[in-house]
Amino acid sequence: MRILRTIAETRAAVAELRARGCTVGLVATMGALHEGHLSLVRAARSRCDAVIATIFVNPLQFGPNEDFSKYPRTFETDCAMLEREGVDLLFAPEPAEMYPPGTSTVVEVQGLQDRLDGQSRPGHFRGVATVVAKLFHIVGPNQAFFGQKDAAQVANLRRMVRDLNFPLELVVCPIVREPDGLAMSSRNRYLSPEDRRHALALRRALRAVEDRIAAGVRGAAPLIEAGLAVMAAEAGVRVEYFRIVDPDTLEDLPDVSRGALIVVAAWVGPARLIDNVLVESRN
Ligand code: AMP
Repeated sequence: MRILRTIAETRAAVAELRARGCTVGLVATMGALHEGHLSLVRAARSRCDAVIATIFVNPLQFGPNEDFSKYPRTFETDCAMLEREGVDLLFAPEPAEMYPPGTSTVVEVQGLQDRLDGQSRPGHFRGVATVVAKLFHIVGPNQAFFGQKDAAQVANLRRMVRDLNFPLELVVCPIVREPDGLAMSSRNRYLSPEDRRHALALRRALRAVEDRIAAGVRGAAPLIEAGLAVMAAEAGVRVEYFRIVDPDTLEDLPDVSRGALIVVAAWVGPARLIDNVLVESRN
């Protein structure tokens, strides 16, 4: 696996792959890798001739009081994991390479960027859309792989790809979970053993909603109430949102009969955790 630090080197390396006729898959990450990230790499491996991963803790997507400086950075282990998965190229730039002085252009997915996490994290999706658009331009992948774990991010990026005519396919991969159901996240490292137990409330709340849907409940209000009741029963968990939305527009839905995305965000100790489940349309 070649490690590339500059945009110029990366463009040249991808051009070589292209000259050999390879299709290219992109997996963009902020490092502190886990099985969730590796599942994207494996999906890319199976669908593309060559895989390029990126590790970049993107300052633009962190708010002033967020965890940018203490975000886990585990570069050596990350490299070993990517190498083992057969990644061809790793682009790992410094912030100054991505945002040289004088940088003033951003990408905004108007409307969508302010919903869900965008509401509590103003500017977050502007940062995400901007860095992903730049990575798309730098790499020019045939396919780009993202996790359903970040459902609002998927909605923002899907819209961006459509609106700005990026010539690529966005592939969304299922949420990878710990054996006890907790969605894997780089931020799980912030959890104490006690927090870790409380954190299961997110998955339990989503399960409670799924159970009620299976039992015939369709209205968003009683379903949300059921989810919130599970969250409220767990000490040490502060809910930020629990909603039932359209997966493309992220707008609240009155019921789940035409399919829905059930999303939760909550603070558990020092960590802000998110989880979701997609429910299919049913009568
Ligand atoms: P991050 O490093 O947190 O920016 O995540 C990089 C990519 O990995 C994003 O597309 C995430 O949605 C995806 N990802 C993170 N956690 C998981 C997970 N538990 N399952 C599937 N994909 C994930």
